[in-house]
Amino acid sequence: MSLREVDAAVYQAIRAEERRQSQHLELIASENWTSVAVREAVGSVMTDKYAEGYPAHRYYGGCENVDTVEDLARDRLKSLFGAEHANVQPHAGAPANLAVYLTVLKPGDTILGLELSHGGHLTHGSAVSVSGQLYNAQHYQVDPDTERLNMDQVRERARQVRPAMIIAGASAYPRTWDFAAFRSIADEVGALLMVDMAHFAGLVAADLHPNPVPHSDFVTSTTHKTLRGPRGGFILTTQKWAKAIDKTVFPGLQGGPLMHVIAGKAVAFHEALQPAFRSYQAQVLANAQALASGLSERGLRLVSGGTDNHLMLVDVKASGITGKEAQDRLSAVGITVNKNAIPFDREKPTVTSGVRLGTPQVTTRGLNESDMDELADIIAGVIRADSGSDLQTYQQRVKKLTDMYPLPGVQQ
Ligand SMILES: *Cc1c(COP(=O)(O)O)cnc(C)c1O
Repeated sequence: MSLREVDAAVYQAIRAEERRQSQHLELIASENWTSVAVREAVGSVMTDKYAEGYPAHRYYGGCENVDTVEDLARDRLKSLFGAEHANVQPHAGAPANLAVYLTVLKPGDTILGLELSHGGHLTHGSAVSVSGQLYNAQHYQVDPDTERLNMDQVRERARQVRPAMIIAGASAYPRTWDFAAFRSIADEVGALLMVDMAHFAGLVAADLHPNPVPHSDFVTSTTHKTLRGPRGGFILTTQKWAKAIDKTVFPGLQGGPLMHVIAGKAVAFHEALQPAFRSYQAQVLANAQALASGLSERGLRLVSGGTDNHLMLVDVKASGITGKEAQDRLSAVGITVNKNAIPFDREKPTVTSGVRLGTPQVTTRGLNESDMDELADIIAGVIRADSGSDLQTYQQRVKKLTDMYPLPGVQQ
């Protein structure tokens, strides 16, 4: 029996989510739109299979087909990023990071990552995350003048705190990372280097952002952001750490791998190896440039003055409203964004002074640079509108864009 017949409530919610995604412009920088092929793999019978262990070394019988899929996923991933070893079993980005920490750190060891309010991630030592509770978490910040990382300041901070591990990578940092400089700092203070490329992995795969793999002891990532795969995580490392990482992921941290998701990851890595993926990522960057300059030209202040990657932070407080108000207003006209702290933010994390905008999903949908100019005009108009003014004309302009670019693979 079909889902519709078995469970009308869940069926209706999924159809409603398809309509929501179709009828809104998704500018959340960490989201994307997976291919029909990826979703077919994730929706397959591989969800039924227990496969504790690794290919050819499983605790259960009947693993020949899931072995094929996990081997494909690992091999494709290694060739995508030039890594010696890959583990594709982490259920998401957060457990991938935890697996690295549990492999090489002892409780109380010092870790050094980018401050959360400066763009870093919860799992890089925030007090509300186990990473900030198990370890002595210290942070580096962006330079207050440029709002960018100054590697001399990062080096100074590392000399002060002498971390066992330095973490590079972020969730809301619009600029390029200098991994060679991080490596040199890690070597100077005797730290291991982990790069969390969750956000920009797709750009790295397309050779449009420096590759952290040659400089790092560990590279972790999600698969569902710019990389456009199913929701999940992975770890890349050197032969030296291969066995230890595999043991931490299973049996140390997780049970049976999500083989249907690993099948979806294998498909996404195959897609990422194709020439079309490089053109896609190049368009993601071109669209981010067009959106950033469109917003700047219309008088909005972008943190650090712009972007080098797929995302940007708009300081909406400089235009007189909070991040929360901007998120709500944009949502009312059909544009989905998230409020986001900006460096040295004076507002609470539930309010914030900024919004984060990203182009991965709208680019998959087909929008181009001239659409970004229209989008910038809509966003700037909505943010600068007098409170209580009628936003309906903006809503109509958003609808025109969503009608022009239907989501591939979904009936409107
Ligand atoms: C999104 C993200 C994660 C966490 O990924 P989940 O899949 O949500 O667990 C980790 N690190 C960074 C830098 C991220 O942006």
